[in-house]
This record gives sequence, structure tokens and C-alpha cells, in this order.
Amino acid sequence: MIPKPAFLMKDPKNQNGSEKINSVTSDVISLLPQVRGTYRENADLSKTTWFRSGGPAQVLFKPADVDDLQSFLKNKPANIPVEILGVGSNLLVRDGGIPGVVIRLGRGFTNVAIHGDFIDIGAGMLDGQLANLAADEGFEGLEFLAGIPGTIGGALRMNAGCYGREIKDIIEGAFVIDPKGNLHHLTVNEMDYSYRHCGVPKHWIFVGARFKISKVNENKGNGEIKARMMKLLGEREETQPTKERTGGSTFANPEGKSAWKLIDAAGCRGLKHGGAMVSEKHCNFLINFDNATSSDLEELGDMVKEKVLNHSGVKLRWEIQKVGDFLESSSLRKKFKKAA
Ligand SMILES: Cc1cc2nc3c(=O)[nH]c(=O)nc-3n(C[C@H](O)[C@H](O)[C@H](O)COP(=O)(O)OP(=O)(O)OC[C@H]3O[C@@H](n4cnc5c(N)ncnc54)[C@H](O)[C@@H]3O)c2cc1C
Repeated sequence: MIPKPAFLMKDPKNQNGSEKINSVTSDVISLLPQVRGTYRENADLSKTTWFRSGGPAQVLFKPADVDDLQSFLKNKPANIPVEILGVGSNLLVRDGGIPGVVIRLGRGFTNVAIHGDFIDIGAGMLDGQLANLAADEGFEGLEFLAGIPGTIGGALRMNAGCYGREIKDIIEGAFVIDPKGNLHHLTVNEMDYSYRHCGVPKHWIFVGARFKISKVNENKGNGEIKARMMKLLGEREETQPTKERTGGSTFANPEGKSAWKLIDAAGCRGLKHGGAMVSEKHCNFLINFDNATSSDLEELGDMVKEKVLNHSGVKLRWEIQKVGDFLESSSLRKKFKKAA
């Protein structure tokens, strides 16, 4: 456990907890601790995830700030499961929805503190916002984040990266809360990063990160940084279906190979299943082109996996994270009992 750094302190606009306590009660909400953030029952996640598919969260919890999140985790009944989501840009929520509590970090997790050679950023901030902020301040090296549409929390969990750089290359470490509500600081070496993998235990929640920064020469200004960023964004527009309902790269690249080349060679470009299809533009991207269910998307991904295995003998690994229940086995109506 560590003392809380200033950028993770209580949200000053949200100190007066009692006004904000959610008065809505339901079977599950009535079992949860009082919070200063908000609880929403049966919250439709398909409105916010990039695929625009999938079932609801039994309860969606948006903590007011780090204190609120810690207090929730310390006091919630142990038998109620918790999932953390970012903005769902690498995520498939299954059609039966997610039982228990889904946590999403909002405004209380977007603080910024610049000190010396570091910049501390809350995990709710978008990667693109950080890239813009760094460019405005004349800090270089974070340009590649501009086109990754997730949050800093999602990037820390996925070790997001592109154009030869990954999140692990640009952070000193991260602030993370364990399932009992304790805050830790982990250095990048302690996080056991590798390609699209982070070794921090699954249910630990990132609340912020410390980025290493280097300022360009004052005389040069930030024009070059912004130009580099625009170039990368342009390249992405040309090669990826960025305006579609997609979940980004479906499969991680196998060692020394490109997933898209294997998928193309197996004849899957443009392959359709229900309302889902393999993108014509970039065949490692699945697209919800016509009211696809999450099952359509997952089944199509599994079909692609099988065709690639049969064609080239390579077993692809899903990069997209799959969460929640299948519709048939949905336990959304599962009742949680008060702990004895
Ligand atoms: C058009 C498009 C382009 C993309 N391009 C790239 C790219 O170039 N490079 C790349 O790496 N990715 C890319 N992605 C994938 C995606 O943007 C990244 O993986 C991103 O980091 C996911 O962040 P998120 O906030 O959307 O997380 P989500 O998709 O919501 O969640 C992903 C995982 O992170 C976990 N998670 C989220 N927040 C936290 C937190 N605070 N603490 C702990 N765990 C958390 C979730 O539980 C889940 O397991 C792209 C996606 C799209 C749609």
C-alpha cells in the first residue's frame, strides 16, 4: 500500500457525498455499499462499446473518484463479482450481459499532474486526449497513442501499441487498486509486460499511470510532434475501418507473423456470419455491419480461427477480450444474497 498521490485525491467537486448517494434500490443495489458516485441497474452496454452489441450490466457503477472506488471495494459483499471496462474498444460483451457490478471510470479519473520528467494521468483519460495534451505541451514520444481509441486504463491492461511502440515503453509505472481496495504503485518491471499482455492480476484496477516525458527543444516548438501525429492518424484511416462498429484487432499477431496475412491467405476477407463480417479493408478487424449479435461476432471469429488453423497450422489467440454470459446461460436474474 502507498500514500495517495495528489492527482488521485478526492474529486473536489464531489466531496459532499450524501447528495450524490443513489437512492435507486434493486435486489443487487440494496446489497451494495453507499457511494458518492452512481449505480445504474440493467445498464445497456451496447450503447457505449465499439461493437454496439451485447447485453446489459446488472449494475453499472461509476465511482466519483479513487476514494469512492476503494471504499466500494472494501465494503462490497465478497460474492458479488466485479468487472472493469474502459470504453469497450477491444471488447465483446456477450448477449446475456454481465452479472454483478461493472465499473467504469469517469471524470473523477481524468486528472493530470506534470512534475519534472514525468506526467501522471488518471486511467479514465482517453489515449488520444493524452497524445494531444503531450503535443500541446511539447512532449514527444506519445504521438502513437493518438489513434488508439481506448482509455489509459485499457491501454495499461492490454499493453496497447502500434508503429513499433507499446505502453510499456513510455511509462515509469502505474497506480492500481487490488480487489480489497488497497492502492499500490507498480513499476513497469513489476508489471511483467509482453506483447499485448500485462502480468498484473486480472481483477486489479488501474487508476492512473506515470508517463516518462521529454520536452522538445523550446526553439523547435511542437509543430513536428503534431505533424507526426497527423501522419500516423492519416495512415490509420487509409488502412483500418475506423468509422465502423469494430473491436480493433481481433487476434494478436503470432510470433514473427501477421494475423491479417494468415486470415487473408485462409480466404476469410469479407466472410459473413449473421450481421457480422470480416472487414474487407483490414481482415484482422471484425465488423458489426447489420445488427450483429455478440454471438454472431464471436462465432465468426471462431470460424476464422478454425480456417486459419486448417490452412496454415497456426493457432490464433483472441486479442479482443470477451466478457459476460451467453444469452442461453444468462445468470442476470441470479440473486445475490446478503453475506451472513
Ligand atoms: C478502430 C480501432 C483501432 C484500434 N487500434 C489499436 C492499436 O493500434 N493498438 C492497440 O493496441 N489497440 C488498438 N485498438 C484496441 C483498443 O483500442 C485498445 O486495446 C485499448 O487499449 C482498449 O482500451 P479500452 O478503454 O477501450 O478498454 P476495453 O476495451 O473497455 O477493455 C479492454 C480490457 O482492458 C480492461 N480494462 C479496461 N480498463 C481497465 C482499468 N482501468 N483497469 C484494469 N483493466 C482495465 C478490461 O477489463 C478489458 O479486459 C483499436 C481499437 C479500435 C476499435
